Amino acid sequence: MSSDTPLSAPTPRHFIQQIVDADLAAGKHAVVATRFPPEPNGYLHVGHAKSICLNFGLALEFKGRCHLRMDDTNPTKEDIEYVDSIKEDVRWLGFDWHEHYYQASDYFDRMHADAIKLIKLGKAFVCHLTLEQMNAYRGDHKTPGKNSPTRDASIEENLALFEKMTRGEIDEGKAVLRAKIDMASPNFHLRDPIIYRIRKTSHHNTGDKWCVYPMYDYAHPLEDAYEGITHSICTLEFEVHRPFYDWLLRTLDTPAKPQQIEFARLNLTYTVMSKRRLLELVQEKRVTSWDDPRMPTISGMRRRGYTPAAIRKFCETIGVTKHNSLTDVALLEHAIREDLNKTSPRFMAVLDPVRLVIENYPSDQVEHLEAQNNPEDPAAGSRQVPFSKTLLIERADFMEIPEKKYFRLTPGQEVRLRWGYFVTCTGCKKDAAGNITEVTCTYDPATRGGDSADGRKVKGTIHWVSEAHAGDVEVRLYDRLFSHENLNDLPDDADWRNFLNPTSLKVIRGFVEPELLKLNPSTRVQFERTGYFCVDAKDSQAGKPVFNRTVGLRDSWAKQITK
Ligand code: ATP
Ligand code: MG
Repeated sequence: MSSDTPLSAPTPRHFIQQIVDADLAAGKHAVVATRFPPEPNGYLHVGHAKSICLNFGLALEFKGRCHLRMDDTNPTKEDIEYVDSIKEDVRWLGFDWHEHYYQASDYFDRMHADAIKLIKLGKAFVCHLTLEQMNAYRGDHKTPGKNSPTRDASIEENLALFEKMTRGEIDEGKAVLRAKIDMASPNFHLRDPIIYRIRKTSHHNTGDKWCVYPMYDYAHPLEDAYEGITHSICTLEFEVHRPFYDWLLRTLDTPAKPQQIEFARLNLTYTVMSKRRLLELVQEKRVTSWDDPRMPTISGMRRRGYTPAAIRKFCETIGVTKHNSLTDVALLEHAIREDLNKTSPRFMAVLDPVRLVIENYPSDQVEHLEAQNNPEDPAAGSRQVPFSKTLLIERADFMEIPEKKYFRLTPGQEVRLRWGYFVTCTGCKKDAAGNITEVTCTYDPATRGGDSADGRKVKGTIHWVSEAHAGDVEVRLYDRLFSHENLNDLPDDADWRNFLNPTSLKVIRGFVEPELLKLNPSTRVQFERTGYFCVDAKDSQAGKPVFNRTVGLRDSWAKQITK
């Protein structure tokens, strides 16, 4: 675990913890072994984080082990770039697989030998039906399937044919190896499923060694069994695959018999979570990359400014159940706000500037005012902020004709400049078109630091930067990538791309206190009264940070739960 926040076991215990408790109490296993088995065909997303926290979390809790296993049985879509990103993301989330790093492709020899074993047991056969024929033979819910014409060929014939497939002597699509189970089973996954197919494609790990590759449903139970996994946790859609999982391990009589347990996947509002769709977003350049800060990928969230602790906390909060549901993305945003509120230093930055001139402040004077870095954390210390006659403030902090209960700058009203002085607004200047170009005020030198000696109170405090000292930086205001709440619920003819939020990114110039120019990439800060921001890890240069907005300050989730 990383040191930032310990992962505490959620209470009450979820159903998988209860299963493990019972298994240990019954002496079924000595050591708990779980695994996280991504297919390296894309970057990990926050749904994967749920699975990572669950699997690695169980291993930590029960002092067992959790394997990281690349489920790389499909040679056509996988890439070493994905393998590297997956390792980086799991580590960044704070988990460690120790020596237990595996690749499904390392087991190809063993899987092949087990396929031969199935043939010898009379439990697998080579089939020459085309895919269309196979579909027609499969039957439907009412009609049992029909046996393949070669289903009852002899073991010798099948061994010879599988050998030919393996040597590359049969063309792609002309033969497959199928398990011989039951064409009348109400479970389609037991109607003689395909377990090996011909693919004359190089694999990123095994190169050109193989012309036949195992199907996922065949490979996965074997990987679990070879590694001695005790609890093989997957998402609900695999429930109907479980009978085949169990059939295979029983038929091969593997020494280990892992138990498959299904839980509900994470779905988030305003988000797509399938790797296929995320890949399309990247390929169609609707985002800049897999780690675009708008992506629900772990790398995107990292770049946006999310912390591992906040993601873990979110996963703990949503819990583990067997019911598919849609989680409000506001809950994820709540988790990051809560974490950043405790940990991020505060700074002042003006994102929509107008000039504020202090008429009675000496023109050539510059003061360095002390500002506390984090009022939530005295240990965070303080810094100096330059102050001068001409400042920049937010345009919204001045109103010539104020609305009701407007406590900020308006002619005649006194406000506090954060860490600075009380100032009283005297008016404003406008250009020929009537736009406000400058707000004017006077200051009370006796209020240095932001408190009056006579106990006089002001209702408003605003942030500012000194114009001459401010850094001029690029700020990226990120919003939700989609404008539609439930992307799993679209009508069949709707294209999910039509629901992309056209204003998911706004790039603006911000004016920031000089201290902010010194920050290293990936540093997270709060811009007071505005939001949490993170120095972009890719596009920032020394002295020229680019700031990504992680999340605004307003918490719609906290509002919902206190309603
Ligand atoms: P996708 O549908 O995004 O392509 P996948 O399930 O095909 O996802 P894998 O790489 O096979 O992607 O996933 C690795 C593990 O992560 C699996 O055990 C899977 O159950 C789990 N997982 C994937 N998506 C989610 C999700 N949204 N919520 C929880 N667990 C998930
Ligand atoms: Mg999968």
